[in-house]
Amino acid sequence: MNKEYGVIIIGGGPAGLSAGIYTARARLSSLLVEKGIIGGLITDAEVVENFPGFPEGISGYDLTQLMYQQATKFGLETLTAEVTGIELEGEQKIVKTSEGNLIAKAVIAASGTERVQLNVPGEKEFTGRGVSYCATCDAAFFTDQTVALVGGGNAAITEALQLTKFASKVTVIHRRDELRATRIVQEKAFTEPKIEFLWNNIVERIEGEDVVKRLRLRNVVTGEESTLDVSGVFVSIGFKPNTDYLKDILPLDAAGYIVTNEKMETEIPGIFAAGDIRRSSIRQVIAAAGDGATAAIYAEKFIGD
Ligand SMILES: Cc1cc2nc3c(=O)[nH]c(=O)nc-3n(C[C@H](O)[C@H](O)[C@H](O)COP(=O)(O)OP(=O)(O)OC[C@H]3O[C@@H](n4cnc5c(N)ncnc54)[C@H](O)[C@@H]3O)c2cc1C
Repeated sequence: MNKEYGVIIIGGGPAGLSAGIYTARARLSSLLVEKGIIGGLITDAEVVENFPGFPEGISGYDLTQLMYQQATKFGLETLTAEVTGIELEGEQKIVKTSEGNLIAKAVIAASGTERVQLNVPGEKEFTGRGVSYCATCDAAFFTDQTVALVGGGNAAITEALQLTKFASKVTVIHRRDELRATRIVQEKAFTEPKIEFLWNNIVERIEGEDVVKRLRLRNVVTGEESTLDVSGVFVSIGFKPNTDYLKDILPLDAAGYIVTNEKMETEIPGIFAAGDIRRSSIRQVIAAAGDGATAAIYAEKFIGD
C-alpha cells in the first residue's frame, strides 16, 4: 500500500521549498516532488540582489540550496519525479507521478512556469548546440561571436544587453515594430552599439550542421524572406505555467494560470497553489516564498480541521 503523506508539494523552486520549511517544521509528513534540479527557475540567475538578507547579493543556485538545507533539516522528504495528474478519492488526493502514485491529505502546487518555445524546425535539434533559452547561463559560450535574440519584452531586452558583454554582435528579432520593454531598458538597448534590431520579423527555421549556422526569417508585413548568419539564437518570448497536470480537475485562466484566494486556496478543498503559477503573482522569489508559507499554514489548518 502507498504511503500517505500529510502534504505533497509539487515543485522544488522557492515557493515549494518555502512551503516545505513550514510544513515540515509543523511536523506534517511532507514530500516535495521535483522533476528536475532542486531550485527552480531562479537557479538561472547569476546573482539575486533583491531577496532580503543578502546585501551583497547571492546566486540563485546558492539561495535555493540554503532553502533546501533548511527544509530537509526539519524533515522534508524529496522525490525526483514528474507529476502527471491528480485524482480525488473522497478526502484523499492521489498524486500521479512518473515514479508511481502517491497519496496526500493536502497538495500544494508550486510548479512555476517554463519558457515558451518558438516551435520551428531546427529548434529542438539545436537546443544546447546554439539554441538557448537563458542568456545568463549560456552567453559566455558565444564570446566574440554573432548571435540573435528573439523577443521584445523586458526579460528579452535585458538578456540582449547581457549578451553584449560576450558576443561581438546581437541582432534582436522582434515580430512587431516596437518593444514592450520598459523605457529605461529600451534606452539602454538603443544606445548599445553591439545591438541591432530587425523589426517585424519572425524566425521560420533554424539551420546548421553540428551547431547553429543561420536563421531563416520572414517579414510579417512585406512577406519578404531572408537569412541571418549567427552562431547562436536566444529565445526569450515569455513563460507559460506548468499546470497541465491540473487541467482536468481545476479551472485555469485563459493562459493556464491558477486562480487562488489570499489563503492560496484553489477551488478544490485541500489543493493549494503558490508562486509563479498563480494568476496574480508578481513572479519574484520573495513573493513565491511568501505564497509557499501562506499555502503551508492553510494546508496545516485544512488537515487539522
Ligand atoms: C533569468 C532569471 C532571473 C531572475 N532573477 C530574479 C531576481 O533577481 N529576483 C527575483 O525575485 N526573481 C527573479 N526571477 C524570477 C524567479 O526565478 C521566479 O519568480 C521564482 O523562481 C518562482 O518560484 P516558483 O517556486 O514559483 O517556481 P519555479 O522556480 O519555476 O519552480 C518550479 C519548479 O517546479 C518544477 N516542476 C514543474 N512542473 C513539474 C511537475 N509536473 N512535476 C514536478 N516538478 C515540476 C520545475 O522543475 C521547477 O523546479 C528570475 C527569473 C529568471 C528566469
